[in-house]
Amino acid sequence: MSRVELSGITKRFGAFEAIRGIDLTVEDGEFAVFVGPSGCGKSTLLRLICGLEVPTEGAIRFDDRDVRGVPPAGRRLAMVFQSYALYPHMSVAENMGFALRMAGISRAERAVRVARAAETLQITRLLERRPKELSGGQRQRVAIGRAIVREPSLFLFDEPLSNLDAELRVEMRAELMELHRRLATTMIYVTHDQIEAMTMADRIVVLRDGRIEQAGSPTMLYERPANRFVASFIGSPRMNFLAARVTRVEPGRVTIDLPGLLPGVAGEPLALAVAERHGLRIDDSVELGVRSEHLGLEPRPHRLQARISFSEYVGGAWHLHAGDHPAGRLVLRHAGAPIHAGETLELGLDMAGCHLFAPSGLRVSV
Ligand code: ATP
Repeated sequence: MSRVELSGITKRFGAFEAIRGIDLTVEDGEFAVFVGPSGCGKSTLLRLICGLEVPTEGAIRFDDRDVRGVPPAGRRLAMVFQSYALYPHMSVAENMGFALRMAGISRAERAVRVARAAETLQITRLLERRPKELSGGQRQRVAIGRAIVREPSLFLFDEPLSNLDAELRVEMRAELMELHRRLATTMIYVTHDQIEAMTMADRIVVLRDGRIEQAGSPTMLYERPANRFVASFIGSPRMNFLAARVTRVEPGRVTIDLPGLLPGVAGEPLALAVAERHGLRIDDSVELGVRSEHLGLEPRPHRLQARISFSEYVGGAWHLHAGDHPAGRLVLRHAGAPIHAGETLELGLDMAGCHLFAPSGLRVSV
């Protein structure tokens, strides 16, 4: 069992600060996913936890034990990388048992652990094969098997599925989640794929430029993103951001003017409930964030007119794109009869699903 606590972690490579003051605790048994764009520091953070890199500042504790100076081999963890080199001249069973042999574990014990891991990963029938006789997915399973046999108290995964084709990725994702359920071991998983993060994580940690933008459950990040960056990173299709202007500020409520908004029922203004300290002033440029499912053909008090520039069939539904709306580009999901490019629609805004972003990018709506 392992709880991983990072406090005030900074990592500099020369003058470049790759990780900037990160505080984070991954709880015992949790499946945490680090996600973010290329270069945000995901792998560096994982390598710091693993012990392959040393923090410039800050402390890392495993179950309250400071692991400073403890080499990777002494940390009771196993790491699975994107590119996993299996020994080509060894069988699957030998590949899986190799680290145990190096650690001086008896042949009998090795055989038991390899058999158990193989069964977990459903590769028992492959144990005598060589790596070249395996598919990509089977090889990745062996790489994971190699990690499992060591019975670590912490698993670290660095984009382990990115070399697999789309179908296999989905399958392996499910298997890793099942593995986590069965082993109940702490797992930290790095990916740049937000769908992977959404489907697998107990908790997602969104990173940008070496900092945590937000950490929370997939639902929390989707429904209550802390800022525009998280809102745009999580969710597919991406959230729509409509440029608007603040026209009125009252306690707990901000009214905005949205270009292209059709006259509302009885001229009702577009207003959102906001947090106490929103810092907005009249005339500020803000953005209204609305996910595709909160924009539709249903009649609603607040409506926008949009001309469809193209539609994509995504299986059972269409993604309709409106490229020339005065407030910004729009994408919505539509499940009815096909709608073609060039058609003009009236789209209802579901205000309960709308977010307001301040000029700083912070979400200020409640
Ligand atoms: P990707 O998704 O592309 O793998 P990442 O989020 O994992 O990206 P890191 O590999 O952690 O990013 O790198 C974070 C930043 O630190 C990058 O700008 C990278 O160039 C820099 N960096 C990483 N390792 C080193 C190093 N050894 N020396 C100098 N700079 C480094």
